[in-house]
Amino acid sequence: MTKLLTGIYVFVLPLMSAMHACYYSDASDSRAQATAAESAMDSVPGRADINYLLGKFDPATRSDFITVGKPYTDKPGMLLRKEAFEAFKKMFEAAEKDGIGLRIISSTRNFEKQKAIWEGKWSRFEKEAPGAKTRALKILEYSAMPGSSRHHWGTDIDLNDLNNPAFEKKGKFEKAYAWLDAHAHEYGFCQPYTAGRTSGYHEEKWHWSYTPLSRVFLEQYNDNIKDSDIEGFKGAATASEIGIVKNYVLGINERCK
Ligand SMILES: [Zn+2]
Repeated sequence: MTKLLTGIYVFVLPLMSAMHACYYSDASDSRAQATAAESAMDSVPGRADINYLLGKFDPATRSDFITVGKPYTDKPGMLLRKEAFEAFKKMFEAAEKDGIGLRIISSTRNFEKQKAIWEGKWSRFEKEAPGAKTRALKILEYSAMPGSSRHHWGTDIDLNDLNNPAFEKKGKFEKAYAWLDAHAHEYGFCQPYTAGRTSGYHEEKWHWSYTPLSRVFLEQYNDNIKDSDIEGFKGAATASEIGIVKNYVLGINERCK
């Protein structure tokens, strides 16, 4: 049964997404449609691409992504949108001059990567939270449902450490956070998950977003994606009940919108 369902997701979802995508092209012949689809894939934001917004693509095959290497990260295989990486490099250098070290520890994660993270937690939290909604809410404290992560867009990065105390008083990255808080906006970066918001993920002092691009993707997401589009993984049925788009995708620091 699981295999059958997986098969349906693999073959039917792309078809449905392709149907969505048709709305971007008014071309009547298939050759022109293919060209429009290709240019949409490689264009800077301007046209919404449903699959892109949902993270259903391979960033390694796209010409608008670039590999992030040393000294910006110690991890192999990190990819970012070119513009976001160029801005990060400038921020990295300025921080370095002020004696602050910034390292990217996570960047673009597509739907499949996010699905692996989500379903890993879905299994781990089974005993602690047997009910589907409770379990989804538990995971949503820090992790996005596949299809709803800002990390899909190639605009968002996690820096230095995945624990808030590391960025707080006497933490290893206390100075780094103070620097980011004061200067990140000068390079186009904003912290979407701040303390004191009324909905969404818990505070994440490590997560920063390149807003000249992510603002556009967020707007396109809000205009085009419904909770029912967030599907294809364990627990996806809770997306509508929880209101993922309204409460999580849009539940960010207003200054990043
Ligand atoms: Zn993050």
